[in-house]
Amino acid sequence: MSAPSPKGEAGGFRSGFVALVGRPNVGKSTLLNALLGQKLSIVTPRPQTTRHRVVGIVESAGGQIALVDTPGLHHGHQRALNRAMNRTATAVLSDTDLALLLVEALRWTDEDELALQRVLDSGRPMMAVINKIDKVHPRSRLLPYIESLAARGPFLAIVPISALRGANLEDLRNTVLAHLPEGERLFPAGQVTDRSDSFRIGECIREKLTLELVEELPYGVAVEIESLTETPDGRWEVSAVIWVDRAGQKPIVIGAGGERLKRVGRSARLELNHLLGKRFHLTLFVKVRADWMDDARALQALDME
Ligand code: GDP
Ligand code: MG
Repeated sequence: MSAPSPKGEAGGFRSGFVALVGRPNVGKSTLLNALLGQKLSIVTPRPQTTRHRVVGIVESAGGQIALVDTPGLHHGHQRALNRAMNRTATAVLSDTDLALLLVEALRWTDEDELALQRVLDSGRPMMAVINKIDKVHPRSRLLPYIESLAARGPFLAIVPISALRGANLEDLRNTVLAHLPEGERLFPAGQVTDRSDSFRIGECIREKLTLELVEELPYGVAVEIESLTETPDGRWEVSAVIWVDRAGQKPIVIGAGGERLKRVGRSARLELNHLLGKRFHLTLFVKVRADWMDDARALQALDME
């Protein structure tokens, strides 16, 4: 099902940009984090969690993969935020060496079809990755699904995985590398992402908030880092604004007696300590900016355009 590993073949180091494409919630961000071995792209059970293009740099003996996570492609949304997310996802394809179309085992929806069409339209070489195989019992049920997938497009390979359980990821990494051109590193050795620490801090806060408010806050939240300073004893002082788009959401985010905001701050701080290897002090403010999701200028200010 997959090409031979490049290990041991004549020829040297390989590298390239590889785009993760697929409908919301198939597991693109989970896969990026699993291949990277650390949390970079935020993950929640809600669709449309990823809003930005994020590059994770995955290096092994055979080469360096610049793996690009994208917002999921979805249709039927007229808001400026959704249009911006779709544009981001499409633009990534134009300068990618290989596209990975991620699908969920045994499922094929209109949104998968949309994602496939975008990849086909881009004309880029593509592979299919079947995720969430941990949910399939017995595994033989995958075989007809793999066949039907193969009929949908000229995939260079079809690799079944479980991003969550870490199943078959080495096979996936080797198969991807085998289809990349030989070449030098695209990023310096040891670099994890093209994104700044501020970006990762803002995303971590947004993840904790989304997890905390899973039922209550419909998409209308953004996080902006106002300042980041290091104290003489090496602690990172962060001041961040949580933007909500309706005044009525402010008390929901803050919670009774500020409890909810405190919980968000605490879990973000613990994760950031671990992720970035620094001690953090976070100060969170909640502010209202009406209709930021419909406002192109607001999106630009939040680095979403
Ligand atoms: P994205 O929208 O494509 O980036 O998807 P996410 O990575 O945010 O994942 C969406 C949901 O699917 C999360 O709740 C993940 O925990 C879950 N998920 C991702 N990969 C797997 C997998 O291999 N198996 C199972 N069972 N769940 C997964
Ligand atoms: Mg995602």
